[in-house]
Amino acid sequence: MNGSAALLKCTGIRKAFPKPDGGELLVLEGMDLEIHEGEIIGLLGRSGSGKSTLLRLIAGLAEPSAGELSYLGQPIYGPAPGIAMVFQSFALFPWLTVYENVALGLEAQRMPKAEIRKRSLAAIDLIGLDGFESAYPRELSGGMRQRVGFARALVVHPNILLMDEPFSALDVLTAETLRTDFLDLWSEGRMPIKGVVLVTHNIEEAVLMCDRILVFGSNPGRILSEIKVALPQPRNRLDPSFRDQVERIYVEMTARPTGSAAVGRQERFPGLGIGSVLPPVSSNAQAGLIEAVAAPPFNGKADLPEIASDLQMEIDELFPVAETLQMMRFAELEGGDLKITDDGLAFAHADQDERKRIFRRHLLAYVPLAAHIRRVLDERTSHSARKTRFIDELEDFMGEEDAEHTLRAVVHWGRYAEAFAYDDGNEVFSLENPS
Ligand code: ADP
Ligand code: MG
Repeated sequence: MNGSAALLKCTGIRKAFPKPDGGELLVLEGMDLEIHEGEIIGLLGRSGSGKSTLLRLIAGLAEPSAGELSYLGQPIYGPAPGIAMVFQSFALFPWLTVYENVALGLEAQRMPKAEIRKRSLAAIDLIGLDGFESAYPRELSGGMRQRVGFARALVVHPNILLMDEPFSALDVLTAETLRTDFLDLWSEGRMPIKGVVLVTHNIEEAVLMCDRILVFGSNPGRILSEIKVALPQPRNRLDPSFRDQVERIYVEMTARPTGSAAVGRQERFPGLGIGSVLPPVSSNAQAGLIEAVAAPPFNGKADLPEIASDLQMEIDELFPVAETLQMMRFAELEGGDLKITDDGLAFAHADQDERKRIFRRHLLAYVPLAAHIRRVLDERTSHSARKTRFIDELEDFMGEEDAEHTLRAVVHWGRYAEAFAYDDGNEVFSLENPS
């Protein structure tokens, strides 16, 4: 496997998008990666870390701002014939049958009709859609539709199959069946492909399917680490060595950033200044996680993978809540564990009024934007201030959208804490509580 020439090579990839205000949004920086024959590579990261953007660059659907991409030693300019993609949602044509949807991929290639027919039927067969050739997408379940998505990508006999969260829109059981079927076909060498790039935000899925996992960090998207998964296939989620791998990745993904690569991230999180982007995590979600971890069997300290499976939360849901608790000093994140602080425990055991008091104290102490709003309201004789006053300030640090989201988060927290009130109709903050 290793030592063979790279199927695909990315060097120094950078991607930035222009922003309406003339600046640029840096999405990917310093990306280096290689894909070798016989490998399934996972791109694992939280939403917004640039995974889909990288996949689109590899697919030739977009161009990097800097850096080089090559496929079998040739630079990639535009879609390469040997690279095919499976998307998260089943982008099927509703007016075409399963067979016609699959055959479509070949019709652009000016192939003899008989050959198109042979290959399409083979792909349909391979992926378990035999008997459904003349069905329309609306007649199929989500899992079957995604199988059509796979067949449509495989029918062109690509060297590299790119998959962008292909299982994430399916229910748990259907997703697992499809993963297992895919892995069986792959292990038996029955698919006409040489390498796979799988984008996912699901840690277990990455450990289940991939030979190598590239863990993405955000802001800007970059590779934090590369993890080889040497477990033999088929893998068992309950196997201790499988659990170890999952645990290790949780640790990687929650480690405090250090060094220069972390600067961008620190600025946004965990909330060092007024210019920090605040996550849309409700006070309820915070209380829920504090309660869950404070209670038995965790008793104040829990392993993130365990909470995730206990509460059935995906990392995109769990991490923002855990990080908010950390920012509010209700919990500490360390080595893949979430440990509730003394104040967090006090919160868990308090009644509603006491909870609000504790929350207010932490909000004003650890969220500078909340303290700032409160100070402005205290100092003004009217004890009120327009929303735009704060939006303008925030926009010195972040984009329009982030400023809106950040203000929305702080409004929600301020209301719960009864630290200030906000009139949504007039867009005015005030000290008076209307209730
Ligand atoms: P992921 O797939 O990891 O969730 P994406 O690659 O979709 O992340 O997006 C990464 C970031 O790039 C996001 O902040 C997103 O808003 C931004 N982005 C993606 N595509 C575009 C685009 N065409 N124009 C501007 N911003 C974009
Ligand atoms: Mg994506």
